[in-house]
Amino acid sequence: MISINAALPASSTRIAIIGAGAVGSTIAYATMLNGLAHEIVLSDVVARKAEAEAKDLMHGSMFVRSVNIAAGSLSDCKGSAIVVITAGAKQKVGQTRLELAAANTNLFRELIPGILDAAPEALILVVSNPVDVLTYVAAKLSARPQRVLGSGTVLDTSRFRSLLARRLNVAVSNVHAYIVGEHGDSEVPLWSSAQVANVPLRSFSSPSCLPLTERDRREIFHDVRDAAAQVIAAKGATNWAVGLAVVRILEAILRDEQSILTVSSLLSGYHGIENVCISVPSLVGRTGVGATLPLPYTEEELAALKRSAELLRGVLTQLGF
Ligand code: NAD
Repeated sequence: MISINAALPASSTRIAIIGAGAVGSTIAYATMLNGLAHEIVLSDVVARKAEAEAKDLMHGSMFVRSVNIAAGSLSDCKGSAIVVITAGAKQKVGQTRLELAAANTNLFRELIPGILDAAPEALILVVSNPVDVLTYVAAKLSARPQRVLGSGTVLDTSRFRSLLARRLNVAVSNVHAYIVGEHGDSEVPLWSSAQVANVPLRSFSSPSCLPLTERDRREIFHDVRDAAAQVIAAKGATNWAVGLAVVRILEAILRDEQSILTVSSLLSGYHGIENVCISVPSLVGRTGVGATLPLPYTEEELAALKRSAELLRGVLTQLGF
């Protein structure tokens, strides 16, 4: 077992990851490559799994910026700036994320008090699915919703931008477009505000590509929405892109960037949406989620976002929240 560094200086950054499965260990790997943390603590109910992942990662430490990777228990979250939760059941082939809600809510009832005991000052970043439901559950169980956020549709937004970039034959960094709503089947693509290098997407064309047709849009959105199901059917899990998406959020927090990311957070009064965690473009920095941005939605987009919120509220009500 690799030990937790009890003597870590106060200015050092510890990140704890609960759940050392496909997603948790990929987040640890991406965090290590990025050089964001001085210490990464992996914890799993199957202790030898966390220990083996920590060892395997530690064996590569010669090639990255100095970092200690340790396996530990929930109490070893102590002193963490951020606790990332990836523990729990994952989708099986043909299952929706929402079908995991009851099992993973029960798991969170056990996990959250232990995390709060060990690391009362930490931000909690929820990745386990259904991420919006569990972000709400964590926010309520912790009684400090402002310290809890979910990875939400940061991943879906990246999927959206990469597919658009490939279709338009431009660099993904020139594409600005968001997916909002549930990280799941009711998510909403914001076509009306999408831009490529300051040109509205609807009128963008270049010598190497024609403007998008209605059919292109439909196919791109279906590929975004169904991406996880397609990857899970072929390899059993999604891990690489979510690993990068989560590290992007960690980076925005730890560097106090005030970056605009579509994380999931508790909304109250956002275009009339109340008492649900869902993704909308939000400022992310050292204290977690700051202001949410009131984008110029079309009536249709706003209606779809509200339907997505109502769907999630319905699931939460069934779960007793
Ligand atoms: P996995 O089965 O590989 O790993 C889950 C891990 O959680 C396992 O190692 C398991 O032992 C551990 N675990 C279970 N109960 C625990 C507990 N009480 N304490 C600590 N660890 C515990 O699954 P995965 O592919 O890593 O996916 C993990 C979660 O992330 C799933 O809910 C999945 O749907 C979700 N996910 C979310 C996104 C996103 O964008 N939000 C993307 C991909 C996957």
